[in-house]
Amino acid sequence: MSNITMNGVEYQPLNKSNDILSYKDLMQRFNQRVSKTKECWLWTGSKTNEYGRIEIQKKRMLAHRLSYLIHKGSIGKNIVNHICCNKLCVNPDHLEAVSQKRNKIHYENNRYK
Ligand SMILES: [Zn+2]
Repeated sequence: MSNITMNGVEYQPLNKSNDILSYKDLMQRFNQRVSKTKECWLWTGSKTNEYGRIEIQKKRMLAHRLSYLIHKGSIGKNIVNHICCNKLCVNPDHLEAVSQKRNKIHYENNRYK
Protein backbone atom coordinates (compact mmCIF):
# COMPACT_ATOMS: atom_id res chain seq x y z
CA MET A 1 0.00 0.00 0.00
CA SER A 2 1.26 3.44 -0.87
CA ASN A 3 1.41 6.36 1.54
CA ILE A 4 -1.78 8.27 2.05
CA THR A 5 -2.14 12.02 2.36
CA MET A 6 -4.23 13.59 5.10
CA ASN A 7 -4.59 17.33 5.51
CA GLY A 8 -1.76 17.78 3.06
CA VAL A 9 0.61 15.56 5.08
CA GLU A 10 1.90 12.28 3.73
CA TYR A 11 0.90 9.51 6.10
CA GLN A 12 2.44 6.08 6.31
CA PRO A 13 -0.07 3.60 7.79
CA LEU A 14 2.60 1.01 8.59
CA ASN A 15 5.62 1.95 10.63
CA LYS A 16 7.78 0.59 13.43
CA SER A 17 6.09 2.40 16.32
CA ASN A 18 2.88 0.31 16.04
CA ASP A 19 0.67 3.15 17.21
CA ILE A 20 -0.23 3.77 13.62
CA LEU A 21 -2.97 1.63 12.18
CA SER A 22 -2.12 -1.22 9.89
CA TYR A 23 -3.82 -1.53 6.54
CA LYS A 24 -6.02 -4.31 7.98
CA ASP A 25 -7.15 -2.13 10.91
CA LEU A 26 -7.80 0.76 8.58
CA MET A 27 -9.96 -1.47 6.38
CA GLN A 28 -11.81 -2.80 9.41
CA ARG A 29 -12.58 0.68 10.74
CA PHE A 30 -13.71 1.73 7.30
CA ASN A 31 -15.99 -1.28 6.77
CA GLN A 32 -17.65 -0.87 10.19
CA ARG A 33 -19.00 2.46 8.99
CA VAL A 34 -20.29 1.43 5.58
CA SER A 35 -23.68 0.11 4.54
CA LYS A 36 -23.26 -1.54 1.15
CA THR A 37 -26.12 -1.54 -1.32
CA LYS A 38 -26.03 -3.01 -4.83
CA GLU A 39 -25.13 0.42 -6.13
CA CYS A 40 -23.70 2.87 -3.61
CA TRP A 41 -21.83 2.14 -0.40
CA LEU A 42 -23.37 4.52 2.11
CA TRP A 43 -21.27 6.03 4.86
CA THR A 44 -22.89 5.57 8.29
CA GLY A 45 -20.13 7.18 10.40
CA SER A 46 -19.70 10.84 11.29
CA LYS A 47 -20.37 13.50 8.74
CA THR A 48 -19.01 16.90 7.93
CA ASN A 49 -21.31 19.01 5.77
CA GLU A 50 -22.56 16.49 3.22
CA TYR A 51 -19.49 14.27 3.26
CA GLY A 52 -18.58 11.28 5.40
CA ARG A 53 -15.74 11.80 7.82
CA ILE A 54 -13.43 9.56 9.81
CA GLU A 55 -10.77 10.30 12.39
CA ILE A 56 -7.53 8.39 12.18
CA GLN A 57 -4.67 9.07 14.57
CA LYS A 58 -6.43 12.27 15.64
CA LYS A 59 -6.53 13.50 12.06
CA ARG A 60 -9.81 13.92 10.28
CA MET A 61 -10.21 12.85 6.73
CA LEU A 62 -13.05 12.50 4.29
CA ALA A 63 -14.46 9.00 4.05
CA HIS A 64 -14.59 8.89 0.25
CA ARG A 65 -10.94 9.97 0.06
CA LEU A 66 -9.97 7.21 2.50
CA SER A 67 -11.96 4.72 0.43
CA TYR A 68 -10.11 5.73 -2.70
CA LEU A 69 -6.76 5.48 -0.91
CA ILE A 70 -7.30 2.05 0.59
CA HIS A 71 -8.92 0.53 -2.49
CA LYS A 72 -7.29 2.28 -5.41
CA GLY A 73 -4.15 4.03 -4.17
CA SER A 74 -2.58 7.44 -4.18
CA ILE A 75 -4.61 10.58 -4.88
CA GLY A 76 -1.75 13.07 -5.09
CA LYS A 77 -3.01 16.60 -5.45
CA ASN A 78 -6.22 15.51 -7.11
CA ILE A 79 -9.77 15.70 -5.86
CA VAL A 80 -11.81 12.52 -5.43
CA ASN A 81 -14.95 12.94 -7.44
CA HIS A 82 -18.23 11.05 -7.06
CA ILE A 83 -19.23 9.66 -10.44
CA CYS A 84 -22.66 8.77 -8.94
CA CYS A 85 -23.05 12.32 -7.45
CA ASN A 86 -23.96 10.82 -4.05
CA LYS A 87 -21.66 12.60 -1.62
CA LEU A 88 -22.04 9.95 1.09
CA CYS A 89 -21.11 7.13 -1.26
CA VAL A 90 -17.75 5.47 -0.63
CA ASN A 91 -17.92 2.75 -3.29
CA PRO A 92 -14.46 2.85 -4.91
CA ASP A 93 -16.06 1.99 -8.26
CA HIS A 94 -18.00 5.26 -8.02
CA LEU A 95 -14.96 7.36 -7.24
CA GLU A 96 -12.42 8.90 -9.56
CA ALA A 97 -9.43 11.12 -8.84
CA VAL A 98 -9.51 14.19 -11.03
CA SER A 99 -7.76 17.54 -11.11
CA GLN A 100 -9.58 20.44 -9.43
CA LYS A 101 -10.32 21.92 -12.82
CA ARG A 102 -12.02 18.77 -14.14
CA ASN A 103 -14.04 18.38 -10.92
CA LYS A 104 -15.47 21.85 -11.36
CA ILE A 105 -16.49 21.05 -14.94
CA HIS A 106 -18.14 17.80 -13.79
CA TYR A 107 -20.36 19.61 -11.27
CA GLU A 108 -21.18 22.47 -13.60
CA ASN A 109 -22.18 20.03 -16.32
CA ASN A 110 -24.45 18.13 -13.95
CA ARG A 111 -26.01 21.26 -12.53
CA TYR A 112 -27.04 22.66 -15.86
CA LYS A 113 -28.34 19.47 -17.45
ZN1 LIG B 1 -22.23 5.71 -5.48
